Amino acid sequence: MKVNRRDFISLSAVAGAMTAIPATAKGIELPDPKQKAKLRLSCQEGVAPGGSLNEKLDFLEEHGFTGIEPHGGGLPGRVDEYKKALRGRDIKVSAVCAGFSGVIISEKESSRKEAMRSIKEILTASGEIGAVGMIVVPAFNGQTALHHKESRELLLELLPELGDHAQKAGTSVLLEPLNRREAYFLRQLAPAASICRDANNKGVRMMGDFWHMTWEETSDMGAFISGGEHLKHVHIASRKSRKMPGEDEGDNYVEGFRGLKVLGYQNYVSFECGSKGDRRKSIPAAAKLLREQWAQA
Ligand code: MG
Repeated sequence: MKVNRRDFISLSAVAGAMTAIPATAKGIELPDPKQKAKLRLSCQEGVAPGGSLNEKLDFLEEHGFTGIEPHGGGLPGRVDEYKKALRGRDIKVSAVCAGFSGVIISEKESSRKEAMRSIKEILTASGEIGAVGMIVVPAFNGQTALHHKESRELLLELLPELGDHAQKAGTSVLLEPLNRREAYFLRQLAPAASICRDANNKGVRMMGDFWHMTWEETSDMGAFISGGEHLKHVHIASRKSRKMPGEDEGDNYVEGFRGLKVLGYQNYVSFECGSKGDRRKSIPAAAKLLREQWAQA
């Protein structure tokens, strides 16, 4: 058979699809996780409605959320505020979202040093308020002149120091893959997990964000499974416009949730999104949808 280039590409795509993890677990024997996975909902502080931290916590608790995700910017000065607000509540801090200055994989030493200093400061605060980890993006597009190979090597040189600091503080660094429009260096969960494996430090972990995964992953389930023991946090939003889950037609998280169930995932799924409608209505509606889809997974 004569194979032209177009045929070759489509045949390669078919072969690729056959070797990839299928979209459903049908026909594959998957081991039971040590612990059954739980859906623990969290919401970023800036996404929750309310005029104060206490009002936001009241709202989230009322709707069954057990986690809140503060922004890392200014967090070292808010540790007491957080400790006080969380006292006597069932809700806890899930993760801390970035907020540091500098760029870890910058070609400029001054920028790398600033990133290390700033990340350590926020890691200390993250540990004090009981966060699973602090989310770190190694570099957004345009923030480093280094190529991929140099970037990865540099990151692995610097991560052990951050991982050690995080472990002492009782938390972790959470590497977050983003979509290509934001950060080409780290776009998929499997390469993030392989960086964690190579760092070989319990203070260095990773996460997945359904919004970015929409554009970068071929299988939500496969992506989460490849995160394995390194996966410690998940972000969620609607899949077409990054609004509230369920606000875009066809929003579906079932395959991803199936992956989390295979892992026996025990950490949070946290809202990082806008809202088309009134958040006081759209957040409870999204929580209901996610609980339904979790049950289907
Ligand atoms: Mg995110």
